[in-house]
Amino acid sequence: MENMKLNIKKLLPLEFKNIPLSQLHDLLEGPTLFHLQGQSEDCVFLSTLLHGNETSGFLAIQEIFDYISNNPKRSILLFIGNTFAAQQGLRHLDGQPDYNRIWKGGALPEHNLAGQVIEYVKQYEIFASVDIHNNTGKNPLYGCVNLLQETYIKLASLFGSHIVYFTEPHNVLSNTFSQFAPSVTIEAGLPGKREGIDAIKEYVKKVVELKSFDEIQIPQGKEVYQSLARILVDESAVIDYQDNQNFDGDISFISNIDERNFHVLPRNTHLGYINDFSKIKVVNSNGEDVTGEYLKKVGGELLTNRMFMPSMFTKEIRVVKSDCLGYINESVEPRFFL
Ligand SMILES: [Zn+2]
Repeated sequence: MENMKLNIKKLLPLEFKNIPLSQLHDLLEGPTLFHLQGQSEDCVFLSTLLHGNETSGFLAIQEIFDYISNNPKRSILLFIGNTFAAQQGLRHLDGQPDYNRIWKGGALPEHNLAGQVIEYVKQYEIFASVDIHNNTGKNPLYGCVNLLQETYIKLASLFGSHIVYFTEPHNVLSNTFSQFAPSVTIEAGLPGKREGIDAIKEYVKKVVELKSFDEIQIPQGKEVYQSLARILVDESAVIDYQDNQNFDGDISFISNIDERNFHVLPRNTHLGYINDFSKIKVVNSNGEDVTGEYLKKVGGELLTNRMFMPSMFTKEIRVVKSDCLGYINESVEPRFFL
């Protein structure tokens, strides 16, 4: 296996504080793990830029540069991921794997890199692990967990308005880190938006200074949604977002589909018009085709076939085709996790 060197550093360079993201790669020369000493030895693990175009985590960390590099309450392990793609404002480069799909082993140099991060981190007591992301569609701020355990839910409950539990994709960072520490993925809205950046700053400080998880009360009525399936659109499909009944392509989605994120859609909700129903597919966490359970074509309309709550619906056609249109979630009964 070809190796990819992980840089490990004890100090954040002063230049980090103000550098434009496009120049970060020149400063760090690749993926880098900073081990910043705090008042106690146990660590909060932070990671950002696993997706190079998701800038809010990096911008937030620049703004709390003084705080994290000046003896914070806990030590901080800060992983800066795909600097190569960040330089070009891309999720990942052509030919690179997605850096948030490399955490369960594999034969690529990037799998080796992930292995080096895990090996280093496991030497320390990790109080919490926080992987910071943005969405491409309009979503409220929310946290995700991969295990339905109380401390994990508590950690997620401190960020945003919703909690999502998912098990697929299984090779994400937070799922692997869940094996040895309370672990979350936080989704801070659209890249670069002030609300998300401020929420990240506040969240990181809160977690670093938390005495213990006993301090956290999960707010009454805070629901946990389980991500059950993804809606995939065929790469060859011709799509738009004009809600056009006379569209001669394959699917014309409603124009505000991403405003439906985290709103419950009743059965028979109109999602647009569709000519070729084979171009859209719903796949559950076991990889099974469950399209008919959730979607149907009636006349030329694309309708929901049962009640569900979507998340991450996006209007970026490139993302729709390479990843998915969005996720289908349902509420998890509290008895499952408390
Ligand atoms: Zn991401």
